[in-house]
Amino acid sequence: MRSLKLLFVSTSVGALGTGLGGGVELTLQNLAIALMNAGHYITVVAPETSQLDGFSVVEIAGNLQIIAQSQGRDALITMPQDAVLSNMWDYARSVQMNYDVIVNFAYDWLPFYLTPFFTTPIGHLVSMGSLSDAMDQIITSVASSYPHTIAVHSKVQAESFKGGLDFAHCVMNGFDLSLYPFCENAEDFYAWVGRIAPEKGLEDAVAAIDSLGAVLKVWGVIQDEPYWNDILRRYPNANIEYQGFLPTSELAIAMAPAKALIMTPKWVEAFGNVAIEALACGVPVVAYERGGPAEIVRSGETGFVVAADDVAALTDAIGQVGTIRRSRCRCHAEEFYSLEAMGDRVEAWFEKILKNVT
Ligand code: UDP
Repeated sequence: MRSLKLLFVSTSVGALGTGLGGGVELTLQNLAIALMNAGHYITVVAPETSQLDGFSVVEIAGNLQIIAQSQGRDALITMPQDAVLSNMWDYARSVQMNYDVIVNFAYDWLPFYLTPFFTTPIGHLVSMGSLSDAMDQIITSVASSYPHTIAVHSKVQAESFKGGLDFAHCVMNGFDLSLYPFCENAEDFYAWVGRIAPEKGLEDAVAAIDSLGAVLKVWGVIQDEPYWNDILRRYPNANIEYQGFLPTSELAIAMAPAKALIMTPKWVEAFGNVAIEALACGVPVVAYERGGPAEIVRSGETGFVVAADDVAALTDAIGQVGTIRRSRCRCHAEEFYSLEAMGDRVEAWFEKILKNVT
């Protein structure tokens, strides 16, 4: 496709590089690299202090948004005064004529609402499943008036919205697989990677590991301290080794020798970047059948998918990961989740956006 000028508007819940944006941070970075490699020009707009290797970031001041997943279904739309969200979109409006497509990475009401008011098309990469009625309403409304502007990471994520998002373009995700070393021989520990927050369900992985008497290494930002302390209190004898939050390349090296990655989400995980990062290292994934991981993992081939919230089934499956060929996990990541594969899927999405507008 012809070379495009693209404006990426980042999430407004945290600066890039802090981990507060969860999977969106790596998604944005990987997409920027994939599209730059394909010959497109990318400018990134993000909250102040953001770090993004290899790209110049237009840093915008202002107060951060509250994360959507910590609120209930009937949560109101809120913004702090001097919100970084509206400041970033003010900036986007003022420079929009210089770009072919603006890509929205924020799971927030304002960018969806602004869709008809911009002259440059906005593509929304929706990073989470259905969480609140107000967000469902604005996302489905934009999806019905501007169907090609919506992209999702998995089919099950699109289906989680009331009435589904029939025309949403599924881009899955893509990674620089050269950062993830393939590790043929596992060491004696299991891995859990993610934001430590209730929706990620760390407690079930700890329960399984505790009953197996195994070691669980945990990587990620402690987003909810009381939740973390409660897990430590409930499982005083569990062999949990907290490893902190690491940059991608260090995380990849550290988790590559794990026997398996355990994913026990309590919400519809839109995709689950960490599943691919593990597979790329040759680490099988044992996941609940809830959201993206169940679409990614081939049960019996690259890991196991077990009934959601069934800790006994989870424990049983963890005990069987030795039967999975680690080289098969790496091949699966190479086939579907490289930067090139992701770039191709996103270019196809941009073609649809541009065709719909002109
Ligand atoms: N992550 C990281 N360092 C860590 C732990 C996690 O960089 O120590 C990253 C991980 O690589 C992944 C992201 O945090 O890209 C978590 O994304 P995921 O899609 O799994 O979950 P989300 O946080 O979006 O719900």
